[in-house]
Amino acid sequence: ERSKLKRLKTMKATTLDGVDVLMYANIELPEDVEAARTAGADGIGLFRTEFLFLNRGDMPTEDEQFEAYRKVVKGMEGKPVTIRTFDLGADKALDAMDRVKTNPALGLRAIRLQLAEPKMFRTQLRAILRASKYGKVKILIPMLAHAHEIDATLAAVQAAKQSLREQKIGFDEGIEVGGMIEIPAAALAIGMFLRRLDFLSIGTNDLIQYALAIDRSDETVSQLYDPLHPAVLMLVAHTIYSGEKAGLPVSVCGELAGDPAMTRLLLGMGLRVFSMHPSQILEVKQHVLKSEVAEIAPQVRKILRYSEPEKIREQIDKLNA
Ligand code: PEP
Ligand code: MG
Repeated sequence: ERSKLKRLKTMKATTLDGVDVLMYANIELPEDVEAARTAGADGIGLFRTEFLFLNRGDMPTEDEQFEAYRKVVKGMEGKPVTIRTFDLGADKALDAMDRVKTNPALGLRAIRLQLAEPKMFRTQLRAILRASKYGKVKILIPMLAHAHEIDATLAAVQAAKQSLREQKIGFDEGIEVGGMIEIPAAALAIGMFLRRLDFLSIGTNDLIQYALAIDRSDETVSQLYDPLHPAVLMLVAHTIYSGEKAGLPVSVCGELAGDPAMTRLLLGMGLRVFSMHPSQILEVKQHVLKSEVAEIAPQVRKILRYSEPEKIREQIDKLNA
C-alpha cells in the first residue's frame, strides 16, 4: 500500500488517452514547500505571499521577502514557482493599513492597493525578481479587471528590473507575468489579458463571489455560493477555451481545482494545469489517471449548454460514474 502511494506521487498525471496534466500546489508560507514536495507537486501554482505578513504590524523588507521567496524557489529545485503579489484587503486585511474601507471585497484590494502604494509594489517586485535567479519563477497578479492595470503592472515590473540592472543584481530577464482571472469582467473581456500576459490563472473562489454577488466569508449566504451555477461554468470554460485558442497556458488555482468531483468537468473544459492545496494532489491525480479526455470532452460540451442546475448536477454525476 505504501509503495503504491509512493509510485502515485512520482507518477506523471497523464490521462488514459495520453493527455499530460500538471499538478501544482497552492502554498501560503515557505514552510509549505515541504508538503508540496511530499505530494509530488509539479510546481507551485499559487504562492499566496500576503500570508507572509498577516499577524505582524509592518511590511516585510525587501530582504525578508527575498529570503522567503528564495527559500521556496530553492526548495522546488527548478520546478516552476508562481509567486502571486500581495492580495491584501477584503478577507486578508492588514492591521497596518486602514485604507481599506467599507465593502472591502469591492474596494482597494490586491493589485489596486499595490498600484496605489508604488513603494510597496516595487519592494515586492524587486524581491521576487531577485529570487528568480535561483530557479523558475513566475509573477502572478491578483484582481485585474482593466487593461490599464495590466499596463501599469508591466511598467512596474520593467522599472523594478531596470533598478536591479543598474545595481548589477541578477534576475531572470525572461520572467513570465500572468494574471488571475477572478473578476467576471476579466473573464468576459479576456482578449486584453491574452494580448498582454504570458499565462492566466483562474481564481474560482473570487470568481464565484463576484459572479453571484455572494460574500465568500459570509456564512448567512454560503448556501448560495454555488461553483456549479451555469454562469460560473460559462466564465471558467470561456477563459480556458480562450487561453487555449491563443496559446496561453491557463490554470485553475481556486478551490474548484482541488475538488475531485470537479476534475473531469475541468479536464473536459480543456484544463491542463491544476493548482490546489497539497493535501488534494494525490486524490485529484488519481481521477486524472482514470479519465479519458476524448470521452469526457463531448459530455462536458453538453453540460455547458444546460442552464438548469439540476440537469448540470445530474450530468456531472454521470461524468464521474
Ligand atoms: C481565488 O480567488 O480563487 C484564489 C485562488 O485566490 P484567493 O483564494 O487567495 O483569493
Ligand atoms: Mg482570489
